[in-house]
Amino acid sequence: MNVASVIVDVPAKQTDKAFDYLIPDKWMDIIQPGIRVIVPFGPRKIQGFVIGLKLHSDFDKLKEIIEPIDLVPVLNKDLLELGHWLTESTLSFKIITYQAMLPAALKAKYEKKVSLAPGINREELPEELQPLFQNNRELAWDLVLNSSLERKLHKEAAAGKLEVIYEVKERLHKKKLKYVLPLMSAEELTMELEQIPARAGKQRELVSYFILNSAPIEYRKLHDLGLSASAVKPLAAKGLIAEKDMEVYRDPYENREFKRTSPLSLTAAQKEAIEPILDSIQNNLHKVFLLYGVTGSGKTEIYLQSIQDVINRGKEAIVLVPEISLTPQMVNRFKGRFGDLVAVMHSGLSAGEKYDEWRKIQRKEVKVVVGARSAIFAPFENLGIMIIDEEHETSYKQEEMPRYHARDVAIERAVRSNCPVVLGSATPALESFARAKKGVYELLTLPSRMNEQALPAVEIIDMREELRGGNRSMFSRTLFEKLQERLEKKQQTVLFLNKRGFSSFVMCRDCGYVVNCPNCDISLTYHRVTEQMKCHYCGYEGRVPAACPECGSEHIRYFGTGTQKVEEELGKILPEARVIRMDVDTTSRKGSHERLLTDFQEGKADILLGTQMIAKGLDFPNITLVGVLSADTMLHLPDFRSSEKTFQLLTQVSGRAGRHELPGEVVIQTYTPEHYSIELSGKQDYDLFYNQEMMVRKIHKYPPFYYLSMINISHEQLMKAVSVTEKIVQYVRSRLSNETVVLGPVASPIPRINNRYRYQCLIKYKREPNLTVTLKNILNQYQKEAAAGLQVSVDTNPYILM
Ligand code: ADP
Ligand code: ZN
Ligand code: ZN
Repeated sequence: MNVASVIVDVPAKQTDKAFDYLIPDKWMDIIQPGIRVIVPFGPRKIQGFVIGLKLHSDFDKLKEIIEPIDLVPVLNKDLLELGHWLTESTLSFKIITYQAMLPAALKAKYEKKVSLAPGINREELPEELQPLFQNNRELAWDLVLNSSLERKLHKEAAAGKLEVIYEVKERLHKKKLKYVLPLMSAEELTMELEQIPARAGKQRELVSYFILNSAPIEYRKLHDLGLSASAVKPLAAKGLIAEKDMEVYRDPYENREFKRTSPLSLTAAQKEAIEPILDSIQNNLHKVFLLYGVTGSGKTEIYLQSIQDVINRGKEAIVLVPEISLTPQMVNRFKGRFGDLVAVMHSGLSAGEKYDEWRKIQRKEVKVVVGARSAIFAPFENLGIMIIDEEHETSYKQEEMPRYHARDVAIERAVRSNCPVVLGSATPALESFARAKKGVYELLTLPSRMNEQALPAVEIIDMREELRGGNRSMFSRTLFEKLQERLEKKQQTVLFLNKRGFSSFVMCRDCGYVVNCPNCDISLTYHRVTEQMKCHYCGYEGRVPAACPECGSEHIRYFGTGTQKVEEELGKILPEARVIRMDVDTTSRKGSHERLLTDFQEGKADILLGTQMIAKGLDFPNITLVGVLSADTMLHLPDFRSSEKTFQLLTQVSGRAGRHELPGEVVIQTYTPEHYSIELSGKQDYDLFYNQEMMVRKIHKYPPFYYLSMINISHEQLMKAVSVTEKIVQYVRSRLSNETVVLGPVASPIPRINNRYRYQCLIKYKREPNLTVTLKNILNQYQKEAAAGLQVSVDTNPYILM
């Protein structure tokens, strides 16, 4: 087998297939499926993934592989196959899928260059481009990026006169530490010791040490052992010992002690729920379970004991938790039960740390991985279970290519591994609950909290009433009183600000003018610290105008309730309260999230104030009050899931209060108390919410009654965006059945971002065997115009409709 099929790193339609290469003799044993290689591609050298080996190729004159990047496969057989499926189901490019399955650190580092195509002289380019290639046929991409010439270069590239080259840059540096190690056996060292004069006492000490201990010692630890570093060089010169840089893992949890826990004896309800899972594990039977139970009902204990069973059988487990709930507390529970058998992967780790955790899996040193979305690609080969906690979380959907949902990937992987998937939630996604009701998933229910603690009492406050009553503050009278009460009792409060909406914008109080981004059709967000206004979509920054550009009034100021503003307000009304604020600004530095939470846990503050990042994982005994300042900001987003998200979030937040002995209270402030998602979250009644929301979904033909696919089109010129979308809509309509609803062309809810106009075509369907081909055709068709600035993308399971 001296021919390798390689997926090359050129993410484009034309190159989205395997290319054949000859394997040079010297690499014959090394090159195998799942290895990355450097190959010649046209005049350039690029990276690729070997996906298969064969004896013959239909092409003659094959080029040779230049060299392997890896010496062992980075993608195992299962993952290679899974990648193929993922590419097909998300309409991604193969290369992008495979790269997405690897930790970021392994993704290629490239230097991107533009080069004259072979045989092309610079005189053949438009005049204004010629000087760029005066001294060289190549040009670093960075130099032209965002310049006025970029478009022109694209055009020439499309015409085949220029090429884009990717030059592979350095690979990741593994963390290395200097060690000292003996080069001789204890007997030999004993003989050598006699030759070392007594005045060289430090050398004698070091040799004596190695006679007793043959293990390498870290250079900087010599001192701790009472040894001298000055002895190393002379002994190394004599060949007795050596200094060596050795690879070590960067263990992010290195200095933490994990208290070991043992399995709890399960309650009757837990036993009933775990039985079918264990059964599925024992019989290597693929099933999907929906473990439905409120926070604190004992779901995690079920995960832990199921995993124990899987480990006992010599198999492995993947546990997904949403990024924001990958708190130390969560990690502790898994490390506490399974110790060093657990690898942890989340975005708080540096690329190097993530890579190290990944390699523990690859080297089969761990049995369990706990991680965010991409941990679903952990390179295990003998999976026994996959668990997705908080399965309703939308962060399980990746919003860039490959646009996958981790739940779908888990199920596909589990089918191939004959093992169960457990989806856990107190507020399952509507799609999941509907599937459980239909028997597609098996429903397991934990009906009550451990120790039968009561759910907290929830009070819903109508903020319109507050206004009518003359209260213009962002705190209702009820919430204020309860806050005061907690301060007196020395109990803790969590204040939650749902900041997904368009808060903190700058508005003129006289005429209502709102400062918008000049490049996007959206208001700018005010940032207190820098006194700047920023666009969250294109990165534009500007100063707040001193006067209203519209009417000249000086009463122009920021509006809305950012966390900073709430903190300020708290300082005014409850000056004695100690407040910890958690938002993107205070938690951007590594470890700060954890530190703030620890401070709060240790009672260093009375109030924890934050955005949705505080909604999860908090489980402190002294929290007896949870306040939601603005429950409805998310309700008004143009998204058919907005009611569901609001319900889930409010239920989740409410679950933070009174999880221990002290009873808890929840205050939800809203301008729309009559909305069912708010009313029912107050009653913590998922089932009623489910029924109500299902009706709405049915009427409007949304999931779970219909599947969705969305095509997004954008271009600098409005007319171009509209006309292309129109053509696409017509084409889609002509190819699909009459039961399918094709909406469009419509402008996206944010109609312009970064000076590009955005249009959409939304497809709602029940059964549509033609759909994939149709979508592929569209992508193929318009890929040709990509260089001319047209972007067409497809999401086969959209979660963001903006
Ligand atoms: P969930 O994952 O549903 O939020 P947990 O598994 O965290 O619930 O359980 C809530 C609390 O109850 C935890 O403190 C946990 O240690 C405890 N717990 C869970 N199962 C048992 C059990 N069988 N016996 C005693 N305590 C339990
Ligand atoms: Zn004005
Ligand atoms: Zn913008």
